[in-house]
Amino acid sequence: MLRDKNDPGFVDVNGSSSCAPSGRRGRTLYITPQFILSPHSPTAARNSNFPLPIPCPYTRLQKMPFLNSELSIAIIGGGIGGLVLALQLEANGFKNISIFEASRELKAIGSGINLQPSAVLVLRNLGLLSALEATGIKTAELRYYNRYGHYVVSEPRGEAAGYLVPQFSIHRGMLHELLLKALKERLGEGCVHADHVFSSYTQTESSITAKFTRRSDPTAPPEIPEKIADVLIAADGINSTARKLLYPNEGPPNFSGRLLWRGVSKRAPFLTGRSMVWAGHADQKFIAYPVGREAELEGQSLVNWIAELRVRDKNDPDLTPPQADWGKVVPKERFASKFQSWTFGFLSIPELIEETKEVSEFPMCDRTPVDRWSFGRLTLLGDAAHPLYPSIPSSQ
Ligand SMILES: Cc1cc2nc3c(=O)[nH]c(=O)nc-3n(C[C@H](O)[C@H](O)[C@H](O)COP(=O)(O)OP(=O)(O)OC[C@H]3O[C@@H](n4cnc5c(N)ncnc54)[C@H](O)[C@@H]3O)c2cc1C
Repeated sequence: MLRDKNDPGFVDVNGSSSCAPSGRRGRTLYITPQFILSPHSPTAARNSNFPLPIPCPYTRLQKMPFLNSELSIAIIGGGIGGLVLALQLEANGFKNISIFEASRELKAIGSGINLQPSAVLVLRNLGLLSALEATGIKTAELRYYNRYGHYVVSEPRGEAAGYLVPQFSIHRGMLHELLLKALKERLGEGCVHADHVFSSYTQTESSITAKFTRRSDPTAPPEIPEKIADVLIAADGINSTARKLLYPNEGPPNFSGRLLWRGVSKRAPFLTGRSMVWAGHADQKFIAYPVGREAELEGQSLVNWIAELRVRDKNDPDLTPPQADWGKVVPKERFASKFQSWTFGFLSIPELIEETKEVSEFPMCDRTPVDRWSFGRLTLLGDAAHPLYPSIPSSQ
């Protein structure tokens, strides 16, 4: 792990960045969002199914001989970003990690999400490839259709496209569960503190203090009302409180004018059984793909679908999004009639909507990029730092 200064891979980060906070021993700590993407780590390599990590440009950031493994790291948000960060830190030798999650309990919420090979590489090097294989679907192709079901074009995905690791289509709740399980096995049950809503922070030269309230009863103090740490990483999602504190005038996320309705239904496989289908156009779209390995083993498909509609005019100056809630079930009447005629040879969309028991609604939003994510000992990560529309580059 220790590297010679003359080694071309060595980065002398001492005092190199105005955004980089000072470590306890007068050295510079430099945790960047790229850090969690680093696929190199001795622990992870041990757990990996592959003998050698694939070299990548982030190698340099993982070589941090100057860091003290006792460093106390507090993470806000136990979503996908917060959990992967904690696993990556653990794999790099850090043990003093605490995660504070606002929800009263960490439940498997959401529907489908896609892990592109770049993300799968990170998870593979954390020893999670076999868990992903047992949970998700190795997506083989993406096929585009117009709104009449006429085929436009297709492209291979993941391993079929020549990547060394697959693309996985997976249920977001199941991905969350497998990350949480791995984290608890590696760091212990007590590393995640649910029902802790981050509210504010203060920082000095030598530490940062995060303050929490209790979601279940805001009048009662939570188990840990204050956490003093060396660094605080806010992975608290698109409506991040930390980002609000850093950018108080930013306001709510930007609404694209389009709403997404999502559902999951078990049914007979369509096309290859590993195909992802995009049909329609920018203002009315339907996406469907299978997400569950267990259903696949039974000869079925757990199909995730997304119906997307423009509900606000393109030129409407009001960018305020409607209230978002991943856990809330909404009536199908809000959108189903618009897809009534979308019956394709291989898939009847009205039938798929009809047979789905629960549908959630979500506004498609992003945020305007900010100049910086790191302020002394506090750094934003994931959707708190750079929320994107859920589409091929990010998730969907
Ligand atoms: C419940 C849920 C379901 C989702 N389902 C899907 C899906 O089906 N498909 C899809 O493409 N994307 C889904 N997403 C979004 C997707 O997970 C993220 O866009 C992406 O994974 C980036 O992850 P993140 O960790 O930055 O943010 P998120 O995954 O959004 O995680 C943020 C976490 O921070 C917690 N949090 C928020 N505020 C505070 C606070 N003040 N204090 C402490 N904790 C806080 C939240 O409860 C959440 O657990 C979902 C997100 C959530 C929260």
